[in-house]
Amino acid sequence: MHLSEILNHLGEDRQSYFNAVSPPIIQSSNFAFPTVSEFRNALENELDNTIYTRGNNPTVAILRKKIAALENAEDALLFGSGSAAVAAAVIGNLEAGDHLICVQSPYSWTHKLVTKFLVRFGITHTFVDGTSLEAIQQAITPKTKVLLLESPNSMTFQIQDLEACAKIAKANDLISIIDNSYCSPLFQKPIDFGIDLSVHSVTKYLNGHSDVVAGAICGNKVLIKKIFESELMTLGGILSPSDAGLILRGLRTLELRMARSSESCATVTRWLSAQPGVERVWYPFAEDFGQLALAKKQMSGTGGLFSISLRAKSILEMEKFCDGLTRFLLAASWGGHESLFLPICGLYDVKGRDNPSLPWNLVRFYIGLEDPKWLIEDLRNALKELG
Ligand SMILES: *Cc1c(COP(=O)(O)O)cnc(C)c1O
Repeated sequence: MHLSEILNHLGEDRQSYFNAVSPPIIQSSNFAFPTVSEFRNALENELDNTIYTRGNNPTVAILRKKIAALENAEDALLFGSGSAAVAAAVIGNLEAGDHLICVQSPYSWTHKLVTKFLVRFGITHTFVDGTSLEAIQQAITPKTKVLLLESPNSMTFQIQDLEACAKIAKANDLISIIDNSYCSPLFQKPIDFGIDLSVHSVTKYLNGHSDVVAGAICGNKVLIKKIFESELMTLGGILSPSDAGLILRGLRTLELRMARSSESCATVTRWLSAQPGVERVWYPFAEDFGQLALAKKQMSGTGGLFSISLRAKSILEMEKFCDGLTRFLLAASWGGHESLFLPICGLYDVKGRDNPSLPWNLVRFYIGLEDPKWLIEDLRNALKELG
């Protein structure tokens, strides 16, 4: 289906709501039935009938159709956060005594899910270097049920060969799951490579305006129905109709926003890689990125995320550079209109937290929708702070 059809029309049954161009937010927890037999029929398939908003809601259902189509998936489920979606996809395919393989250094709350949460229910894990297919293959045991990928990773951008990983998973009866938040469905379609479930933090590009936290799982009807009937309905981590309405509005400009962010990101990273204060630019489409050929094979773009390491002599010097930035906001997350940075030095020496494994001279950047020349001026000024 054409991207324009998905973003502008798919799922929108305008005649059923006064021909409104913008879909209504159906702010109702429950839905009434005229007869007992219609109620009984609806209960046979709660996933596709509107009974109660924890299961299904007409506004959320429009979004569900669009996000599934964006991923070339048969179906999708929406959640109240990306972390709820990752957790539901993983928990839904594991039982006590099972083992899962996860790529090393995943998103922090995915790491907590694996190391702190699942172990309480007798699920063991192995972290592997996802750039090595042999490492993945060697980690498989008779108890392994899930292969959990994140490609690219959102701090240093290591990628996994999705086609090869899907083949390994199929040959060993594993469910393959990927966190596809970095690329968005526009720039990477894991299901086309044979991955079973593609998960998103919808908070990032799909909503795109830094005003909603949401998540999604995309996959075939059988896997989606299984997660719906168990994790979604039982744990109840659903998306509200009003947030679904905001995300539908955000999706209208998804193609424009992604194109702008990735083009500006290429401009900014090219400029940064020529600066003497910059030790290294971490960016999957950079000429010196170790996995460039694979990145170009499976990703059609990058979006706006990259990292740099600086030739700074101390954390204090890093802080001076960071505090010198005035047009980027220091904030977590990414994927909105506004350019951001996340300094790893800010995660060092935090009371009650371990220091991170990433070096303190690393800064993760997100390029939003501003003029890249205006952003480069800001970076040029801040780099003057390096001694
Ligand atoms: C933000 C993020 C998540 C978590 O999503 P939330 O919407 O914040 O719950 C998961 N994975 C990656 C890669 C992320 O960047």
